[in-house]
Amino acid sequence: MSEKRTEISEIGEFGLIDHLNEKVAIKNSSSLKGIGDDAAVIEAGDHVKVITTDLLLEGVHFDLAYAPLPHVGFKAIAVNISDVAAMNAIPKQVTVSIALSNRFSVEAVDALYSGIHAACEHYGVDLIGGDTTASRSGLVISVTAIGESKKEQISYRNGAKVNDILCATGDLGAALVGLQILEREKQVYLANPDMKPDLEKYTIVTGRQLKPDARMDIIHELRELDVVPTSMMDISDGLASEIFHICKASNVGATIYEDKLPIDKQTFDTAVELNLDPITCVLNGGEDYELLFTIDQKDFKKLEKHPDIHFIGHISKPEEGKFLVTKSGTAVQLKAQGWKHF
Ligand code: ADP
Ligand code: MG
Repeated sequence: MSEKRTEISEIGEFGLIDHLNEKVAIKNSSSLKGIGDDAAVIEAGDHVKVITTDLLLEGVHFDLAYAPLPHVGFKAIAVNISDVAAMNAIPKQVTVSIALSNRFSVEAVDALYSGIHAACEHYGVDLIGGDTTASRSGLVISVTAIGESKKEQISYRNGAKVNDILCATGDLGAALVGLQILEREKQVYLANPDMKPDLEKYTIVTGRQLKPDARMDIIHELRELDVVPTSMMDISDGLASEIFHICKASNVGATIYEDKLPIDKQTFDTAVELNLDPITCVLNGGEDYELLFTIDQKDFKKLEKHPDIHFIGHISKPEEGKFLVTKSGTAVQLKAQGWKHF
């Protein structure tokens, strides 16, 4: 008798999450949003709480050969804050759980926590608990972040409407290009430990990979300008993949324009140096932790002059599909390659 065995890679990370979600039924009316967005949303009196959690594993999400422990600590908090931001909520608390192998000393833990404390200070959140345990293989960090918002200010992935404007913050592709540089320099160092890596001209891209900043600044500005995005998510798996998520959740199509896609000069130049196509880096590079959101056309005037919000395209009917219009004016079908973990 042979038992059926399905490889996780056959269904992928998102397929697996959908598969797990099939067996979940919400029982409590206070659970406003469960699986399927950047964070869960829970009723809490006159407001709502958002809750999100992320797991970071040494060797999968960070490599201590080039990631300093304080940066790892900062990033573990920042990536969770980014998911709170993606709901248009304000982060308030975090819990931090760690698993450590005996390779780590108290001083190493202090270094990790110096980054965690710096991030808590930066985002104005309280560290309110966690768990500590032994690990057989390296460092594991799990962070849960809790945020608050008014119920009507929450931006879900499913609210994009036809003719809404698609917006992206900051610039994209830097974290992927930064990772390629760090990996290259690591190989150079392993081949010849006397060689000192020359990372001076790559500080923007390596900095984005090692110590990304969640865009809470944008969330506060949107509030000041009285703009509630009709849909939003953070860009952790790559722009194209995130556009697919918003389109699927909102049942819409989208068109984006190559000449509107934000890329930093250093990202562009470094991608070319690495023989990577800069636009592919923008579309499929992960871990930039910028925000992707849609706004109603009536709000465009309020954001038009913002130096760090880019209007990359618009939302269309679902049957119109998902397209990238290249600089030469050709519409090519958008593919969501994303950041594959399996
Ligand atoms: P993000 O990239 O924004 O962190 P993910 O792709 O990790 O989001 O998760 C998408 C959704 O799936 C979220 O609602 C998350 O809580 C949920 N999710 C992920 N893994 C699991 C799991 N093992 N069990 C239940 N829900 C999960
Ligand atoms: Mg997210």
